[in-house]
Amino acid sequence: MSTYKENSVQNFFPSEDGNAEERQQFMQLIEQLITGVDDLKNPDGVNLLGEKERSKSFYTDLIQNSVIPSNSTDQKEVNEHLLKLLHNHPYHSKYFLTNILPMASTPGILGMITAFLVNGNNLWDVYGPAGAEAEVRVISMMSKLVGYDPQLSGGYTTWGGQGAIFTGLRLAIAKFAPNAPRKGVPRNLYTFCSESAHYSLFKSMEATGLGSDHLIKVRTLADSSMDTEDLRLKMEQVISDGGIPVYIVATTGTTDAMGIDNVQLIKQTAEEVSAGHGMQRPHIHADSALGGFFAFFRQYDFAGNPLEFQAPVLNALRQINNRMQHLSLADTLCFDFQKLGQTPYSTSLFLVKNAADLQLVDLAEEETPYVGHRGYGDYHTGYTLECSRMASSISIYSALLAFGVTGYQRLLAQFVEVNLEFRETLRREVPEAVIVNDLNPAIMTLFRLYPDKQNNFEAELSGLCSHAEIERANDLNAQLFEVLGQNRDRMFFGDTKKHLVVPTTDNQDTTLYAAKLFVISPYTQVSHIPEIVAYLKQNIDSVFHSYADALQPIGG
Ligand SMILES: *Cc1c(COP(=O)(O)O)cnc(C)c1O
Repeated sequence: MSTYKENSVQNFFPSEDGNAEERQQFMQLIEQLITGVDDLKNPDGVNLLGEKERSKSFYTDLIQNSVIPSNSTDQKEVNEHLLKLLHNHPYHSKYFLTNILPMASTPGILGMITAFLVNGNNLWDVYGPAGAEAEVRVISMMSKLVGYDPQLSGGYTTWGGQGAIFTGLRLAIAKFAPNAPRKGVPRNLYTFCSESAHYSLFKSMEATGLGSDHLIKVRTLADSSMDTEDLRLKMEQVISDGGIPVYIVATTGTTDAMGIDNVQLIKQTAEEVSAGHGMQRPHIHADSALGGFFAFFRQYDFAGNPLEFQAPVLNALRQINNRMQHLSLADTLCFDFQKLGQTPYSTSLFLVKNAADLQLVDLAEEETPYVGHRGYGDYHTGYTLECSRMASSISIYSALLAFGVTGYQRLLAQFVEVNLEFRETLRREVPEAVIVNDLNPAIMTLFRLYPDKQNNFEAELSGLCSHAEIERANDLNAQLFEVLGQNRDRMFFGDTKKHLVVPTTDNQDTTLYAAKLFVISPYTQVSHIPEIVAYLKQNIDSVFHSYADALQPIGG
């Protein structure tokens, strides 16, 4: 029987009783959106079809013209407005090669829809039992995957890899200064990460009030991993100046170059230095937001190779796996499912080796008058920085079930395979584009141009170049960024202005610029590489030409 009533506010909502008529209406609206996006798809370019004039006054025009309609709008018409938002939007076609910006997988999207259908609040299992159940399940699954004891570990879904780094810092402060949550943060606490670490820790230092001057950057090696001897020196320095090292972020998979810090060595170094001064070891967070997903190979039978990966791919995966094997030594971890987990934003999972640590930052009963601490309900996340939380764990749960271990292994292996093919083809066809993260088997490649097509990378690393010389090469690379950026609707590449910090002959550290290809679309295949490299070669040639022209005196 139909419950549909003309002009009822109930028409804005899904049905109460599950009747077929309202379900049909709902399904039609969803179909309208999906069909609308399908009609915009264009596998020969990067962006969806459609017009979008991004004039200089684009945003000011929007501000001027936007107003809430005084009357209700039919959802079919609203859907047309929604679809217009998507016109010319970047889409993950085979030419989407820019950064760690994945497509949301079907299991990931369906998990989100499931969560939205009941709209539970993941703050408390009385309000959001589905989210609580999914969260406990995925924490256990991922704990087992990395080698944490699932009986002792804990965690929750949070606002990004940055949120995980932030909470790691909250735990670190609370471990060293148990009164800090009430009395405030002492002034002599210091944290450490490498020069290639994500800027999340920088931000967290500001937000906790420690101040980013208390973040000590540790030098990196040529493979973008942390130089633990420099960590030792800098920890000693901090201590001798009266400071206390409380937190070290070990980046296990840098965002640009996939450098993987050696967590075992970092932990050992930290233990030695701290013990030498009768101090407690700093809290160690492995920032595995991006790279942690390679833990899916922890149990892979590399000798038997059941998924029949080709030798170079197998070899690359083995190397990555070896560098990742000490993840479980870290006190906390992060899995950004919105990255290699293939779920929509935001679905980051913060994992804590010892769940009891969370009590250090939990709220007391008298501070939570509305929720938790009742005779009913067993799961109340008073330790999160968020109050209300979306049940993004349901999307993660969906993806983990659908992909399974082998699904993730096959996907990641495909990314690695395509990237290996790119490196090989680039080396052959465009030798003047020097690969500068070649020490890291990965899903991305950084490449750098040099004036006079002279490979200066080794010299740069060894501190044999002047600041001016490096700047000249950086300028050339910036020109390539511009050219590629202008044409990003054809192929969408990434770039970085901070690949490695290097010393110079004039004792001024500086950074290297590099263009980037990131294999992130499941639609980019080995067979597309010749075309992609030919396109790059064309653009690189034109950059060299205009560079040479600019060096000619006018009229000469
Ligand atoms: C992406 C990334 C972050 C930040 O994650 P968000 O989810 O964007 O907050 C932190 N660390 C690393 C290594 C990352 O790759």
